[in-house]
Amino acid sequence: MTDRVLVLNLGSSSLKYRLLDGATGVAEATGSVERIGEDSATLMHSVGGHDHTEERHVTDFEDALRSALDAFDRHGPAIDRDDLAAVGHRVVHGGDLFAEPVVVDDRLLDTVEDLVPLAPLHNPANLEGLRVALRLFPDVPQVAVFDTAFHQTMPEHAYTYAVPVAWREKHRIRRYGFHGTSYAFVSRRAAELLDRPVEDTNLVVLHLGNGASAAAVRGGRSVDTSMGLTPLEGLVMGTRSGDLDPAIHGHLHRELGWSLEEIDRALYRESGLLGLAGANDFREVTQRRAAGDEAATLAFDVYAYRVRKYVGAYYAALGELDAVVFTGGVGQHSAVLRAAALDGLSRLGIVMDAQRNEARSFDARFVSADGSDVAVLVVPTDEEWEIARQALAVVRGAQ
Ligand code: ADP
Repeated sequence: MTDRVLVLNLGSSSLKYRLLDGATGVAEATGSVERIGEDSATLMHSVGGHDHTEERHVTDFEDALRSALDAFDRHGPAIDRDDLAAVGHRVVHGGDLFAEPVVVDDRLLDTVEDLVPLAPLHNPANLEGLRVALRLFPDVPQVAVFDTAFHQTMPEHAYTYAVPVAWREKHRIRRYGFHGTSYAFVSRRAAELLDRPVEDTNLVVLHLGNGASAAAVRGGRSVDTSMGLTPLEGLVMGTRSGDLDPAIHGHLHRELGWSLEEIDRALYRESGLLGLAGANDFREVTQRRAAGDEAATLAFDVYAYRVRKYVGAYYAALGELDAVVFTGGVGQHSAVLRAAALDGLSRLGIVMDAQRNEARSFDARFVSADGSDVAVLVVPTDEEWEIARQALAVVRGAQ
């Protein structure tokens, strides 16, 4: 019986894929197709330590997936359909309908389509990925793994916005949360590091990548998270504002005549670090800050302060805390951000160890001092492995 899983992650104009062993996480090949639908797309296929890159016109998602399969044919490894346990798909929004991964069938496609209004940027691409993969791999089980699923355990008081009942009941307005596969993976891994069952852990997990969010995780289950109905709420991100006064839309519309689309675009694509410092890359912001740049210093401070506020809020939400866990590109690699976010919290039992924090490493590790009541951990996330693992579990369960 094979544990091989092909994981597909389709964004609005990109495809990322990985062929891996769902049980061990060992990857045979990874790749991406960027700028689908534009004049020239970049296809990158990485196998056995070699990167094969080429530019070619890729018209749509089907073309992108065929290009990827073509790269497997030319550079290896061979994907024999009989030797594939599942295709695992990242699907961004499962609404309140999916708390678990599911096998894809026609009914599921209709349901994901119904959820498009909740994720207009992501779900159409995910849906197309599901349809194309069903055509290309008709005999291989396809499993949808939802970014929102992990947060379906949130209690009602945490996911409910204080808005009229019709909004909540008819229009599904509530907090959903995202980055769920990352939280599932990181929470389990953090429990291993703490050397206790995940059921006995209280964690604040900070997923800080281009998109960023925080989650309060009790016993391996989400009890709150900072992203909401959409992935705009919460922490400061590369180009997204995070938390705002919700009256800002109305204000800008009335005062400046801006359309809702213009305002949305600015909040999703022109805000966050980019809006504050003119750069969305955290590394660049950090470098410019170190060189004394005022805008970069403010951007860093706003970002770190927002993280700190959520740590405090989720500590209180959990009541007790075993670890603060950093993941995502910024969380894993920026010692200076980790230090700024948690500095001076010894009264809360959080004490960092400067040397451990600054040591460069790609491993899951402690960065807190030995006597710290609350551990501070850095845990590299692996969303593709988590998708493969969950896909495999669903397929095995169904067999
Ligand atoms: P995505 O959310 O697209 O998966 P990542 O998790 O890879 O993104 O995170 C990307 C972010 O991580 C970028 O802002 C990048 O600048 C930041 N980052 C990566 N390496 C470092 C580093 N050494 N120091 C600071 N920031 C870093």
